Amino acid sequence: MKRYLLIGGIGSGKSTVSNLFLEQGAYCIDMDTIGHRQLFDPNVKRELVETFGPEILDDARHIDRARLAGLAFASNEATAALNAITHPRIMSMLKQRLDRGENAGSELCIIESSAYAGPGTALDGLAEEIDGIIAVVASEELRVARAVKRGMDEADVRARMARQATDEERRSWADYVIENNGSLADLEQQVTNLANDFMGA
Ligand code: ATP
Repeated sequence: MKRYLLIGGIGSGKSTVSNLFLEQGAYCIDMDTIGHRQLFDPNVKRELVETFGPEILDDARHIDRARLAGLAFASNEATAALNAITHPRIMSMLKQRLDRGENAGSELCIIESSAYAGPGTALDGLAEEIDGIIAVVASEELRVARAVKRGMDEADVRARMARQATDEERRSWADYVIENNGSLADLEQQVTNLANDFMGA
């Protein structure tokens, strides 16, 4: 099974591309879902409470992601502590999902990640698990318009964009680039071409 990491900024079209690959028969994994799910792991939860305090829990005793983010992204040390607790668990969940894809006989796996910020900050061991990176890029104005149309606040979209990597950086990390400045039909054609390449059609 070939494995490709799918990266792209907010509103770039990652989820749309991932769904198009799914339609082409790929096995798709969403790193954001894995990232959220591992916060329910009792060991992860216990270690996070030990490190950041019980105030990261909500009334139902689940991790409140906004409160955790407020504390964990307050300093480089705090972020490093968060990563040390969560990254190994995220990698092990990713490997389980990859095994499932292999066992299902999939030829191609697409791993969607909105948080990928370059090889220097990637999860330990991720590079060894993948065959390459696909970046979805689109002009900033189109990305804002698409995200706003989907219901997001424009100022919030622009603020998030400013904190994310740039398309220029994504292009430099990518082995394949999908240009999403055109129609959905145009996007579908690019995905079909790549899927055919990867699956040897
Ligand atoms: P986010 O990181 O915010 O979750 P994303 O990168 O996953 O975004 P999508 O959700 O795939 O992006 O796309 C954002 C919106 O733009 C969606 O409503 C999608 O239908 C629309 N969209 C994506 N590509 C195109 C296109 N080529 N033409 C028209 N609409 C598009």
